[in-house]
Amino acid sequence: MIFPTEKFSQIHTPFYYYDKSLLEQTLDTINAEAGKYEGYKVHYAVKANVDPTVLGIINGKGLGCDCVSGGEVERCLMSGFAPSKIVFAGVGKADWEIELALDANIACFNVESEPELEVIDSLARAKGKIANVALRVNPNVDAHTHKYITTGLSENKFGISMEMLDEVVDKALALKNINFIGLHFHIGSQLLEFEPFAMLCSRINDLQDKFEARGIALKTINVGGGLGVDYVNPDKNPIPDFATFFATYNKNIKLRPGQELHFELGRAVVCQCGSLISRVLYVKNGLNKKFVILDAGMSDLIRPALYGAHHNIENITSAETETETYDVVGPICESSDCFGTDEVLPLTHRGDLVALRSAGAYGQIMASNYNCRKIPASLVL
Ligand SMILES: *Cc1c(COP(=O)(O)O)cnc(C)c1O
Repeated sequence: MIFPTEKFSQIHTPFYYYDKSLLEQTLDTINAEAGKYEGYKVHYAVKANVDPTVLGIINGKGLGCDCVSGGEVERCLMSGFAPSKIVFAGVGKADWEIELALDANIACFNVESEPELEVIDSLARAKGKIANVALRVNPNVDAHTHKYITTGLSENKFGISMEMLDEVVDKALALKNINFIGLHFHIGSQLLEFEPFAMLCSRINDLQDKFEARGIALKTINVGGGLGVDYVNPDKNPIPDFATFFATYNKNIKLRPGQELHFELGRAVVCQCGSLISRVLYVKNGLNKKFVILDAGMSDLIRPALYGAHHNIENITSAETETETYDVVGPICESSDCFGTDEVLPLTHRGDLVALRSAGAYGQIMASNYNCRKIPASLVL
């Protein structure tokens, strides 16, 4: 990635830089690949990044959005998404969040339990509304990903187990202010193999046969997100393999005539266009190591501290040809505030700019005020 460093002096470090043209190319690829198949609709999983400019670009390219909180529903409405393109998931929706979504007439609630179904029904009745509902099913598929981001195993808190589904469907059909329209799934995040998606399709096919036998027609099947990105080679693979992703579904899922297949992609949409840009405060010689101390820390990008995640680290202003090995750390008073150990960088000096790559998803949105630090700003160019 070529960084427009001449424009970086206008803004305080650390900040998040988003490459607008890469984001647009990614969205164009999604639209082209999903557009090859009848009834495929893509929602953006807003929790990955809610920068208003980024949301505006995504809305402009015609994607819908998938929210997991009332606050996200509000953000999407503010960014101009049509309520008819907003779906709302989450294992613990509070009453005010449900009411807000009912008032906005969103497209669908992805419901994760029987008690939630009853609450939505009663809140909808009080407003004289009928809520569209898809039931989130836990398909017990192993996504082979990090244990913090796998969601489709029966031991996870998410969704309704296959064994209990019939009972909850009966309930949904019986409740007068619930309109049961489909099924929802999401098996995990940062999946780099396509086999778990194919497994999910086979589970869905079995379920659809059962629904058909009961004479229940489903309008939508929502398969969630999860497509991973290449954190190690972001320049070689700036755009995830959407062609294979959608083709895997097309090959394996048996949709019924007129049925819509919905996707909720988060990371794959926004990850590679974003970098956390930080300035080197000090280069410190330890006993056996050299440390590059950045002005960005785990409060700005928590993924390395939270899941041991890897982000490529690049010195984007050094003119040095010689290299040196450094541990790259932040200023925060926690030993886990470390972005990389034994990183080979050009000889680095105070004042250099360092980019932490592939930080567009679950980066800025997870920033906190820990140590009374400021939330990093955005620069979308
Ligand atoms: C997080 C989430 C997504 C998006 O996951 P990605 O791995 O970022 O694509 C989609 N759907 C639901 C319900 C989610 O919770």
